[in-house]
Amino acid sequence: MKILIATDMEGITGVTTWDQVTPGHAEYARFRKQMTEDVNAAIRGACQAGADEVIVADGHWNGSNILIEDLDSRAGLNTGSPSPFSMMQGIDEGVDGVIFIGYHARNGSPYAILDHTWSSRTVANVWLNDVLTGEYGLNAAVAGHFGVPVIMVTGDQTACAQVAELLGDVEIAVVKQASGRYAAECLSPEVTRETICGSAQRAVERLAAGDIPEPFILDMPITVTVEFFTSDMADRASLIPFTKRAGTRVSLTNQEMASAYRGFRAMVTLAVG
Ligand SMILES: [Zn+2]
Repeated sequence: MKILIATDMEGITGVTTWDQVTPGHAEYARFRKQMTEDVNAAIRGACQAGADEVIVADGHWNGSNILIEDLDSRAGLNTGSPSPFSMMQGIDEGVDGVIFIGYHARNGSPYAILDHTWSSRTVANVWLNDVLTGEYGLNAAVAGHFGVPVIMVTGDQTACAQVAELLGDVEIAVVKQASGRYAAECLSPEVTRETICGSAQRAVERLAAGDIPEPFILDMPITVTVEFFTSDMADRASLIPFTKRAGTRVSLTNQEMASAYRGFRAMVTLAVG
């Protein structure tokens, strides 16, 4: 059984501020270590349940946060940026299940640590066909493109609830209770390591038993709509051929999700200018 662990940083144990997830800041060093530990706990659980291949995708910022020297040696690491599938690098038909580690809620969510959607300075909202979503939805749809289900998520209570609302009864490990965008009651790393390991083990066991929600597969064609914070961002994103524009919203329709994902990333990359 092959498992892809797709990671982000905002939903990692103990994280509550941008400084903690921003390379160059003194606090960042502590939390990239913590990120590596949360991921190790998931690798441990997945392997205990019989996973024989684990690939980790480092999906935050420039994709070089996880400390490879401290990473469980049973897992390979996709690191660096840009890569063809970004936060989902390593996904293909050979993967059996995806675990989201360190995820965060979509932009505009109350009681959600560092809520945003892809870029906190650029993207106000994203819709996949008419469903308002966050990174979790985009990434789950990319997994779905390859017929692969998401089996587990870790993060604060709001991120986990949004994933469950979209995908159904996946395994959940809540590592903190957010009371605002920059405030949460955090569980100790010792506790979350156990919780994450146990959830990953159950998730892979359920996957093996056929007891996990179906892959997230969108009706085709797939329209991705991005609402930008300012109109100049929409001006630049609209330079991509065949986009449609309404105010600060720009949409792009593709025949399949792998292209829709690339189109989304192209819009956001261009929008920053
Ligand atoms: Zn991130």
